[in-house]
Amino acid sequence: TPGRIADAAVSGQEKPAGRGVVPAGPDFVGYEAYRGQGGYALAASLARGQRDPAAVLAALEHSGLRGLGGAGFPAGRKWRIVREQAAPRLMAVNIDEGEPGTFKDRFWLERDPHRFLEGTLIAAQVVGIQAVYIYLRDEYHDARRLLQAELARLRADPPFPLPAFHLRRGAGAYICGEESAMIESIEGRRGEPRLRPPYIAQVGLFGRPTLEHNFETLFWVRDIVERGPDWFARQGRHGRQGLRSFSVSGRVREPGVKLAPAGITLRELVAEYCGGMAEGHELHAYLPGGASGGILPASLADLPLDFDTLQPHGCFIGSAAVIVLGQQDRARDAALNVMRFFEHESCGQCTPCRVGTAKAARLMEAPVWDQATLQDLGQVMADASICGLGQAAPNPIRCVQKYFPHEIA
Ligand code: SF4
Repeated sequence: TPGRIADAAVSGQEKPAGRGVVPAGPDFVGYEAYRGQGGYALAASLARGQRDPAAVLAALEHSGLRGLGGAGFPAGRKWRIVREQAAPRLMAVNIDEGEPGTFKDRFWLERDPHRFLEGTLIAAQVVGIQAVYIYLRDEYHDARRLLQAELARLRADPPFPLPAFHLRRGAGAYICGEESAMIESIEGRRGEPRLRPPYIAQVGLFGRPTLEHNFETLFWVRDIVERGPDWFARQGRHGRQGLRSFSVSGRVREPGVKLAPAGITLRELVAEYCGGMAEGHELHAYLPGGASGGILPASLADLPLDFDTLQPHGCFIGSAAVIVLGQQDRARDAALNVMRFFEHESCGQCTPCRVGTAKAARLMEAPVWDQATLQDLGQVMADASICGLGQAAPNPIRCVQKYFPHEIA
């Protein structure tokens, strides 16, 4: 099982094999450099009782920071809920980053790991966490070695007594990015999502109340508290709040991770941050949120990209993985590709998802779609699947039917 195969506690169980730690790039900030820039002072002030945890919690709530793994749940509210549960409380950090097109967590992890670790320690202090479990995508070999090395440095010279840290490797299952499936995997079982309630904030890892966060959510905590919540909130555009790390790929001149205001439009993102469309390509469509966020046409490239803004159009931003298609691409091909991915990654626990994704993929291979059957199938999957994978799987079908009918008629 993923948990058993991949247990790699930082306590030294795993021998670093092969090439050793990834060579640091010019913009890499290691432990000494991070401490030299005032790093860990904020977490230390909390640990020594020199700063009020309630004030930190209030700042986080005021900043409007939301879960950046895709769900967008307000981070401060989550801290408050878990803090109110009985001790001992645990923390699970999600760096599985399996959403197709998403690579922002690795980008920041390989450059500034201690900003994330300090955010984790601040959360641990405020919420009262006994142990932290970090769940890392197994394909991120270099990032793992780097994180192990930097954790070892932190442990060798701790600025204050640290909670227990455990680093666990996933085993390539997309569904283990779903919080409850990740917890099952950490516990050593098959990564199958749990039915809720109870929510993992109440009954999570090893039956204890659990604070679950995506890597990037924690990455921003130190800056929000130090610079003030208004600093983060006022970064947005078109009436939105905060910053987003967009993972941009596809037909653009300069793909990559783009730190941009929340609420920026696709047209602005491509023009201002990606050097425009790639040579010989015109914007045809885009996936605003990886595989699960749906597909939008070029005519809707002026929508603010943020949580809640795309729902009226049948899409969502998720982890901000933006995939840009040109006029030589077809939305139906992208939708089929996504459905095959869901078919492959369905955990198989519930029938509407296990059978529905497979059947949908076969129907979508036909030159002319059986639209009524696909619509009916999509409705059953959305209504009766246990988790977000099966519930969101019909999104690409609906988007193609709504915005690209000429491609499937
Ligand atoms: Fe598993 Fe799919 Fe059901 Fe989610 S919806 S529990 S991935 S079978």
